[in-house]
Amino acid sequence: DTVIVWFRRDFRLNDHTALQKAIEYCEEHDKKWMGLFQLDPQFTKKIDLHHDYFFQTVAEFQKRCTEEDISFQIMSGEAIDVFDKVTKKLNVDAVFYNKDEAGYGKKRDKEVSDWLKEKDIKVKAFHDYYLHGATEIRTKTDNTMYQVFTPYYKQWRSVQKPSVINTALKEVKKHSEKRKKSIDAESDKEFEKVIKECNQTWKALGEKSALKRAKRFVKERMVDYDENRDLPYVVGTSKLSPYLKTGCLSVRTLYHMVAEHDSKGAETYIQELAWRDFYGMVHAEFPEFRDKEYQSKYRNLPWNNDKERLQKWEDGKTGFPIVDAGMRQLNKEGWMHNRLRMITASFLTKDYLIDWREGEKYFEQKLIDYDESSNTGGWQWAASTGTDAVPYFRVFNPTTQAERFDPDGSYIKKYVKELKEVPKKYIHNPSKMSEDEQEESNCIIGEDYPSPSVNHKEQRQTVLSVYKERT
Ligand code: FAD
Repeated sequence: DTVIVWFRRDFRLNDHTALQKAIEYCEEHDKKWMGLFQLDPQFTKKIDLHHDYFFQTVAEFQKRCTEEDISFQIMSGEAIDVFDKVTKKLNVDAVFYNKDEAGYGKKRDKEVSDWLKEKDIKVKAFHDYYLHGATEIRTKTDNTMYQVFTPYYKQWRSVQKPSVINTALKEVKKHSEKRKKSIDAESDKEFEKVIKECNQTWKALGEKSALKRAKRFVKERMVDYDENRDLPYVVGTSKLSPYLKTGCLSVRTLYHMVAEHDSKGAETYIQELAWRDFYGMVHAEFPEFRDKEYQSKYRNLPWNNDKERLQKWEDGKTGFPIVDAGMRQLNKEGWMHNRLRMITASFLTKDYLIDWREGEKYFEQKLIDYDESSNTGGWQWAASTGTDAVPYFRVFNPTTQAERFDPDGSYIKKYVKELKEVPKKYIHNPSKMSEDEQEESNCIIGEDYPSPSVNHKEQRQTVLSVYKERT
């Protein structure tokens, strides 16, 4: 009999709840386990940056399993069809996995677990992705969800965190099947095809690299995290989000590495990990989070369906240097600094008055750390439709944001090459250059770089009145 560990966004061999439980089960019942990944056709239709990174991470995990002599099988198809195929080929005793608490994953988990149970196959699902699951942190007064982050965080901080689950690699290997041949050659071919379509070169994929990076961040940069995290021109954040998203790094391992230190940097970092839990909880409690505004009064805002503007924003050609730099970083690297995510999201929703769902979808295609709950949380925060405690009148001014967080324009110049020679004095307002100055800095406004596509002051007034009407 085979015990299946179904890997989904947890591509690691240590501090992995479902894997540890499967190993204990194998030991007790004298069984062997096999890893499985379901290659879902809905995610292979168009390989954008996000999918490219994800599938190359899966390939790296597959390679590691082969090196360690651990059975890991990729099967392509809809979830139920995959389990139907697997159970026809193997005598499956139980399926272990780390569950999804919201979104598409939750729906899929329910369908699969109902199907398996009908076939008399045991299903063991565990909390693993968050430090605290969706229902763990509750208000003391009436045991409901916290609507606002600050009191949530106070409670979250006081609750003991789950320990690291250390599983010796020796144990993982000992209980693994030693299957030499794939059980589905067609799926292998499908996956090879997908990998061939992936054309990015990513550095440092996988669990070992994730741990190395986390250690380096904690040792070298965490102490200044509280001061540097908002400055996009320095590497002030951990850049661990793609590893957390793919599960190459366990959030428990990361938390305990950080919590050993007593510094303002460590404290601020821990608070960011709590945001991740918070949005996971909001999404689980409000399943329509991705489709609907959390605050019902803002459900029918008169969004502007201007495709041309949307395209300008996507391409980083709005004429606002900081916004354009952020979007170009995203398009090039599949990652964007948090301050820039806030600025670009505020710009799309407040300056262009374009529906936040358009931005959310665009980020989904591009972000290698794409996470349904955190992304939606961030977008609804920027659009003032979510759980933010500050009311709708938070409208970022892209120019003053840039002056504050990128005073010399070094971040802007890194990503917007046309502005490379523009003097510091004009870097946040290049259209203010005289004709001579434009020529001297090799940047003709309207030709090399666009003039501002909107008047921020006017747009601010418009958006404020739109929100005010509904408040
Ligand atoms: P660090 O500053 O080093 O933070 C450490 C970790 O804390 C991050 O890796 C992340 O897991 C968590 N974290 C930090 N800030 C947040 C936050 N505001 N919300 C939730 N978790 C947070 N994060 C994603 O992981 N996936 C997304 O798809 C995503 N989309 C976003 C969209 C918008 C519009 C906004 C404003 C924010 C979004 N974030 C998202 C949150 C945040 O921008 C990223 O987590 C962060 O930039 C990742 O870089 P880092 O690992 O260097 O972060």
